[in-house]
Amino acid sequence: MQAETASFWEWQQHFSGEQHCLQALIKLRWPDGFVCGRCGHRKGWLLQTRHVYECAGYHHHTSVTAGTVFHNTKLPLAKWFWCIYWMSTDKGSISALRLTKLVGVSWITAHRMLWKLRVAMGDQNRLYRLEGTVELWTTPSSAASAGLAARRPSWPRADTMTGGRGLSP
Ligand SMILES: [Zn+2]
Repeated sequence: MQAETASFWEWQQHFSGEQHCLQALIKLRWPDGFVCGRCGHRKGWLLQTRHVYECAGYHHHTSVTAGTVFHNTKLPLAKWFWCIYWMSTDKGSISALRLTKLVGVSWITAHRMLWKLRVAMGDQNRLYRLEGTVELWTTPSSAASAGLAARRPSWPRADTMTGGRGLSP
């Protein structure tokens, strides 16, 4: 699903809650299925309250959001995903004030979200031309240490959001 072509209705249905957003992030982090970065175990489960995936082997914890702009966020992930939608469809020019109404956050929160996303995206004008690819992985090194050495996910792409192939930026 791409923000440029999806209606907000579709986007919001697709990322309607924490679980949907987490599953999307899990697919980005482990496109070929979960692998524990410490013991290589392929089975595990999501600890619902902490955005953490726990391996079945030794109960190692891996943060689903580590290395992303969502790390340690206190906001529902859906609000971030919706923010990404509005940023993408407005070519990044959306104001914090408008976002307060659209996503339901305070102005200062909206301001911080936009700032974080713009930093994550780097040169927004360049990236917006890249078919709406928005890079959410802000620190490749930490992402690599979390088991993402092979590839660095980008965002948002239709095929990855719907569980298709793994993605590369
Ligand atoms: Zn493990």
